[in-house]
Amino acid sequence: MKMNKKKIRVLSGIRASHSSLHLGNLEGAIRGMIKLQNDPKYETFYMVADLHGITTPFNPEKLKRNRLEIAKDYLAAGIDPKKSVLFLQADVSEHVELAYYLSSAVRHNRVKQLPGKKEEYREHPERVSVALLNYPVLMAADILAYKAEIVPIGLDQEPHLDITREIARNMNLKYDLDFPEPQRFAVVAGDFTVPSILGGGKMSKTKKGSVINLSDSYEVIKQKVARIPTDIGKAKKIEKDTGAYALFLFVELFMGKPKKRKLERDYLSSKGIKYSEIKAELAKAIYKKLKPIQEKRRKYENDPKLVREILDKGAEKARKIAGETLNEVKEAMGLV
Ligand code: ADP
Repeated sequence: MKMNKKKIRVLSGIRASHSSLHLGNLEGAIRGMIKLQNDPKYETFYMVADLHGITTPFNPEKLKRNRLEIAKDYLAAGIDPKKSVLFLQADVSEHVELAYYLSSAVRHNRVKQLPGKKEEYREHPERVSVALLNYPVLMAADILAYKAEIVPIGLDQEPHLDITREIARNMNLKYDLDFPEPQRFAVVAGDFTVPSILGGGKMSKTKKGSVINLSDSYEVIKQKVARIPTDIGKAKKIEKDTGAYALFLFVELFMGKPKKRKLERDYLSSKGIKYSEIKAELAKAIYKKLKPIQEKRRKYENDPKLVREILDKGAEKARKIAGETLNEVKEAMGLV
């Protein structure tokens, strides 16, 4: 791959805390990553965020396995090592060192106040490791190590990105550096979050029973889709996180907006809708998206050496750039 200085840099990553990616990761993050990797304006860096996997209790054997499984998922879903630099975060230790320097440019009160996390931090301080508090700082280091301007991540990550921007601003002010203030790249205009299949909230690997994995068979998908909540169709309007709301959102995401609009019209009229038919169609539509990914994954499952080679090459390229940034920062901070 030709490295061109003028290209706009992009970085994104997904935690290696589980062995499989899910539909939320695919639609909310990977779709955007692929779009950017295929646009020659951008130079794309994508990592398996294994270091972020140690912020909460973890099993080393599992982590070791999961980070390679996630790499295979990335490749199967369409991250192309000829176009993108794909690497394991822990292979580029520059991220950790940079995070330490950046941690001096943000107050601990700021990271403790993170929306979505602050309640947990307050209510269960015994569960909060220093690594967990440091999560947004390491994320800032992941991004700023490449001076990435664009970050294709889901809407839920925006509060973290705010901290990255603040750190970039502070570092630039204090040490006359030139970090960009990175912006989130939304896959589609208007934004969305893939809902939990249990309804209520987002699909997340930390929420038990909420996900459809990229590796799920057609049978499993059918069973999971059958569990998406419905109601008796007597509601006067369709409200967030209640009744059949999640189902309609799934229909929109995997069968298109017109189909969703028609369903909504039928639901709100006297006509009504047949949930079993919709769910059968939806399961088919989801599997249709996942089947080619599962087929491509087999190639990587059968060739672990190839996966390792791709990751080693990626880490080498990443280290070169992250190392340059690290030197700039150390010099500016009087550490060289
Ligand atoms: P999880 O919430 O399952 O632990 P991560 O926090 O590792 O997932 O997120 C990895 C990427 O996938 C992030 O960019 C995140 O915004 C995106 N993502 C995760 N869940 C969803 C979802 N349900 N809908 C859209 N994007 C999502």
